[in-house]
Formats: sequence, C-alpha cells, structure tokens
Amino acid sequence: MFERAVLVHYHEIGLKGRNRGRFERALQANLVAAIGELSTVGVERVASRLIIPVSLANAEEVLSRVAAVPGISSASLAFVTSRDPAEMEQAAILAVREAGASAKTFAIAARRSATDHVERSLEMNRRIGAAVQVATGLGVNLDAPDVLCRVEVVQGEVYTYARRVEGPGGLPVGTSGKVISLLSAGIDSPVATWRIIRRGAVAVGVHFSGRPQTDDRSEHVVAELCEVLERTGGLARLYVVPFGDLQREISLAAPPDLRILLYRRLMVRVAEAIAAEERAGALVTGESLGQVASQTLENIAAVDQAATLPVLRPLSGNDKQEIVTEARALGTFELSTQQVSDCCTLFMPRSPETHASVRQVVKGESELDLPRMVADALADITWTDFACATYRAPKRWPRSATL
Ligand code: ATP
Ligand code: MG
Repeated sequence: MFERAVLVHYHEIGLKGRNRGRFERALQANLVAAIGELSTVGVERVASRLIIPVSLANAEEVLSRVAAVPGISSASLAFVTSRDPAEMEQAAILAVREAGASAKTFAIAARRSATDHVERSLEMNRRIGAAVQVATGLGVNLDAPDVLCRVEVVQGEVYTYARRVEGPGGLPVGTSGKVISLLSAGIDSPVATWRIIRRGAVAVGVHFSGRPQTDDRSEHVVAELCEVLERTGGLARLYVVPFGDLQREISLAAPPDLRILLYRRLMVRVAEAIAAEERAGALVTGESLGQVASQTLENIAAVDQAATLPVLRPLSGNDKQEIVTEARALGTFELSTQQVSDCCTLFMPRSPETHASVRQVVKGESELDLPRMVADALADITWTDFACATYRAPKRWPRSATL
C-alpha cells in the first residue's frame, strides 16, 4: 500500500513578495497546532508546498482539521509514490476510486515541478488516463469531469490525489495583528469574530455579563461559543467582565433613553483598556447597519466617539439571514439561540434613543466617574485561555485578576 499525505494548498496571492516567509511560517505553526497529536511527523515543506504525512487511520481527521485553518484554500489527501510509471498509474486508479463512488467521468491533470522529470504533462495525462479508464471503466471528460485526479511530480516523490476538501481561504492567523472582539452570547458577534480571524488576526474576546445583577448563564454560552471559535486557531483568550453593577450605576445616573449607548461606550472604554494591555490594534463588534435600534449611523458614531482604536464591524453590510447562514456553517448558531439574560436585557429603557448625538451622550455621561468605572471593571475581570499558536499573552495584568 502507498503512503498517504495531506497536501495543503493556499492562495498564492496574499503570500507574494517579502511577506511570504512570514506567512508560511505562521501557517505552518497553525497547522502543527491544528493537527496536534494526530501527526508525529509534523508539517514538511517540500518545494514550496506544505505536506503532512498521515497514517490511513488519521487521514480523514487530519484532512478536516487542516481544511478549517485560515489561509488554506483547500487540502487534498494524496497517495505518495515514486516516479515508477506503474506506481503512478496504480495510485491514480486508487485516487479516482476513493474520490467518487457515483462518478461516471474523470480527468487526469499532471504537473511536473521537478525539472529532471522527462515525461511531459500531456504524456502523463494520456498514459495514466488510459490506465484508469481500463481499470475503472469510467469515461474521460476533460471539461467537466466528475472526478479530477491531479498528479504532481515533486522532487523524488509523486503526489496523486482526487479527494479534496475546500478550506476557508483568507490569511494565516497571526499575520494581521491582534484584535479585541466584543463577544455577546448572540448570533452576530461570533460570526464577526470569525471573519476577522479569517483575515489573519488573533482575536481576544471580551464578554460583559450582567452579573451580579443577573445569573452567569451568558458566560457559559460565550464559553461554549469560544470553544467553537478555538477550532479556527484564531481565538486566544476570553475575558469576562461582570458588568451588572456598572450598568445599574449608569441607569441610576443617566437619562433612560441614553442608557444603552452609555453601556456601550463604557464597554468600549473597558475593551480599550484591555487592548492596551494586549497591544491589540482594533476592536471588533457584530453590528450590522440598521439591524436594531442601537445600530443606526448616529448611534454607531456616538459609540465610536468613545473609542480611540478603529472599531471594525465586519457584518455592517450583511442581512440577518446571511449572518444566520454563516453562523450555522461556523457551528455557533444553535449555541447563540439559547435564551439567556446577559447584560443586554438588564435595565433596558422603554424607548431607547435611536438617533443620538455625540453632544447628548457626552452630556449624559457627565455625572459618571468613568475612569473609576473602568478601573472597577478591570478589577473584577477573569479570563480563560484557548489554543492559539501565535498568541503572545500580556506579561502582567495591572489589577489582581483571579484565574
Ligand atoms: P449579537 O448577535 O452579536 O449579540 P445583536 O444583534 O444582539 O448582536 P447588539 O445587542 O446591539 O446586537 O450588540 C451589538 C454588538 O455589541 C455585538 O455584536 C457585540 O459585538 C457587542 N456586544 C453587545 N453586548 C455585548 C456583551 N454583553 N458583551 C460583549 N459584547 C457585546
Ligand atoms: Mg446581542
């Protein structure tokens, strides 16, 4: 039996030029972390390809883990052979059979990356194709085959594969810096976080819970959501901030219609304080324009005015239905639709302001001791770490944070 390997394909486009080495190293580290205990051999670089030798028992699991790693366009399960013509043909027959039980047609696409290989691609296609046709009885269809079998001649080895799984695309985690992601227990923010992770950022989550004014169920939901996000390799840590008492303080001191905006502005300030410790470059939220009353342009402006870092809103142009579809694919939807009371449902006004002005909110905040409130929030913070290969945790934390 031939040896097996997972071949990793990534978009060349983001990897051109001076950044290439850095991108490939990050990708390699992320792949090693994603595969974990499943490979003892690790990830090899062969002729600018990333190749993971696997045992047959682990092959499918490695394939699916690799295919979830940001920066990967697709992953293939290859047969590894020598350049012996009979071996190449046998591998192609096995690969075509493995790829589609119901297939009626196939095509061979061979490529020589080794310059010393004399047989040309077209000749390989014909020779291997003829052997596959005889062995399987399938027809050849070069334009739209049911199964496309690729044959890559690389240095001493030949990789033959037809089984291919699409990856998420994007960029390797760790190549776009770090963000602080505001994670509620809702549908939107986990999707927003995933989108930014897919663009190569390491995400550090912050959840504001209603505790001690509510129970801690939202914290459990967010922890579960984080376990799903952890599988992408891009979530490093989750901070939980008990926010209930601070909300209560705001609700007692500020006009009811401005409450939500003042909660948000305080969340942003706390998130920025965390960003300073983490050396993060931006905040991320799951807002989508006009989705709810608090997400009008005026209110977005009123919240952003409290921030100094850029606030990324990757879902701002998406419909709810699109976000739900993405949440289902990500695996967070079911978790996000559990009924929990988080701080969002706490001290809600009857008619929230939908078109606040910056002047209004600044005036509404005038009675609040904001630096002390941020300090209070930081004093009660706790955190959980997740597996993220390229994360660098802050060396110190300013307050006595409990673990
Ligand atoms: P989501 O589905 O993400 O909860 P939403 O549609 O409920 O969003 P809002 O409640 O207005 O909308 O929240 C907008 C964004 O503000 C969220 O996507 C999230 O980024 C942030 N946010 C809201 N509540 C919290 C919270 N309790 N902790 C952390 N971030 C929050
Ligand atoms: Mg919400």
